[in-house]
Amino acid sequence: MWKNLELLPQPESNKAFILEHFLKDSNFVGKCFDPTKEFSNSFPCAGGCGCIKRVAELPDKSLVAVCGESPSMCEDVPIEREDTRILSFNLRKTAGFITEALATPHIVKDIQAVPTCAGMVRVGFYTPRGTIKFPVYLHVAFENGERQHALNSLILTKEPFILLLPTQDGLAVGETNALKTANSMIIGLDRYSDERGILKPADMLAVLTGFYKIQPDPDPEVDCQLFDTPPGAEWKDITIKFTDGHTVRITCKSVTGVFGYFQMGMNDARKAAPNKQWDLLQGFAEERGQFTWENSRANRGQKKQKQSLKAAMQKFFGIFDSDPFDDFKDHKGRICYRSKFNISPED
Ligand SMILES: [Zn+2]
Repeated sequence: MWKNLELLPQPESNKAFILEHFLKDSNFVGKCFDPTKEFSNSFPCAGGCGCIKRVAELPDKSLVAVCGESPSMCEDVPIEREDTRILSFNLRKTAGFITEALATPHIVKDIQAVPTCAGMVRVGFYTPRGTIKFPVYLHVAFENGERQHALNSLILTKEPFILLLPTQDGLAVGETNALKTANSMIIGLDRYSDERGILKPADMLAVLTGFYKIQPDPDPEVDCQLFDTPPGAEWKDITIKFTDGHTVRITCKSVTGVFGYFQMGMNDARKAAPNKQWDLLQGFAEERGQFTWENSRANRGQKKQKQSLKAAMQKFFGIFDSDPFDDFKDHKGRICYRSKFNISPED
């Protein structure tokens, strides 16, 4: 079904031709094509001699498709005017149809033109967790070489991407290697849909999860687990409560779990004990979301500790685009910190 889209000889054809040769499902055609005001005077020869039929009008204004060969080799077929209407492929509309079919919190619809490539649109983003996101594009080629151009223009952005194509068949070795180097992937829609072309969101999500797993580590210095932060969640959505000196219970929207300092990347390897960042986190809990100079854990190295705590928190939660902390000044003009997440000590 999807594959057939790429086999269309041009973006505009009459409805009968599109239905006969490519997309058998008229519902599907309506999701990807727009009707124009033009009508075709040729018609596919279904079950006839294999000619291209001509559209002829009878005296009573009804239409017939007559054999294109002379002398005639197949029978006249009565047709509806609507079947001769020229339909025009609409890439944005198709992108909308795809994102709606894939509706999961991990796929965000945000359709935008790609100035460097007319045959391609950005359909939105894939967000594995937190505010981490990767652009997802759709490209439909009608001419040879178009796919290569689309691929090259994305690789030039130097940003990992996911490119949806009607089919990933016939990908050259060079293209596969270029994708690997760019930490990017192509997804053929035909592989993640049933025989009617209906997309399977769970299958698509599984392959996207694999894509996220192969991404380079954004901060190898922090060795921690990755919290399953719901897509789009921010610091304010996170609540941390100490359950004892070495563990916390974390809640973010519908996700909750208990984690130790080790899992959160706040382990002092030499001592096999919590490090200074964990100490600082406990300080924030004691003051329920702030860390002032009145804190028993206040110390001269706290600015650097706060930077390290920020790095650990960002990687653990997958929220790299904003700082988990704000600064403020106390009555003596000294710089103190406030956390954007909620935090409290053990009861
Ligand atoms: Zn014929």
